[in-house]
Amino acid sequence: MKKGTVTVLGSATSMGVPTIGCNCAVCHSSDPLDRRTRPSVMIEWDDHRVLIDSGPDFREQAIREGIDRLDAVLYTHGHADHILGLDDLRPLTYPRITGGSRIPLYATADTARTLQSVFKYVFDDNYKYGGIAKVELHEIRETFELLDLKVIPVPIMHGDAQIIGFRIGEFAYLTDFSSVPDESIAMLKGVQVVFLDALRHEPHPTHSTVANSIMIAARIGAAKTYFTHISHDLAHEATNQTLPEGVRLAYDGLRVEIDLES
Ligand SMILES: [Zn+2]
Ligand SMILES: [Zn+2]
Repeated sequence: MKKGTVTVLGSATSMGVPTIGCNCAVCHSSDPLDRRTRPSVMIEWDDHRVLIDSGPDFREQAIREGIDRLDAVLYTHGHADHILGLDDLRPLTYPRITGGSRIPLYATADTARTLQSVFKYVFDDNYKYGGIAKVELHEIRETFELLDLKVIPVPIMHGDAQIIGFRIGEFAYLTDFSSVPDESIAMLKGVQVVFLDALRHEPHPTHSTVANSIMIAARIGAAKTYFTHISHDLAHEATNQTLPEGVRLAYDGLRVEIDLES
């Protein structure tokens, strides 16, 4: 067993909760658990620290969690709410922290192309207008080794687009899906802690509903399921009271023990 922890950096859908200009009850809730930043998690084990996604709230999340170094970032897909914090990796790529090596970013070919186009200057060797994040892209094709872990990309459907979630040992993180193919459910056998997209109750073309994710959670059968990518339609406490045992809404700052070997 290789023990580690996952920390929820953000649990919101793309616009964050509260949402700018919104007058709804959740956006004006006094419960701190109803404040959600854009979706991302951090995995830590031994003296290692890896992110899944770096969203637009990364700077605030990193300061909140005291992140002072980073070994790698894994990307699920190239949408803005998952990548826009890439520029803020910059202070973590200072040579005094990294020893001069670049921080590896792992992404599928599709996502890598998006990163290279959105952050063209970061990947421009001739960029001469000041500091940029010292990172390097690694293409995800299949299961790969990350430090001393085995990382399994798990295909999921985000509307018409196939993106990936990740399984590492008995932990899995699946965000931004409307459906999970049967073959991918099979890849999750034995997972004990799983994070699943559950946007809201109303159907959405590219995200899962609470009811659908409850069904998926039952099929996966993990001891602990946490819902993430949550919209302002779901109040934390009231929603939790309606969820089955072992299924809860994630919240910013949540830490869960995980086994990173299966
Ligand atoms: Zn998203
Ligand atoms: Zn609202």
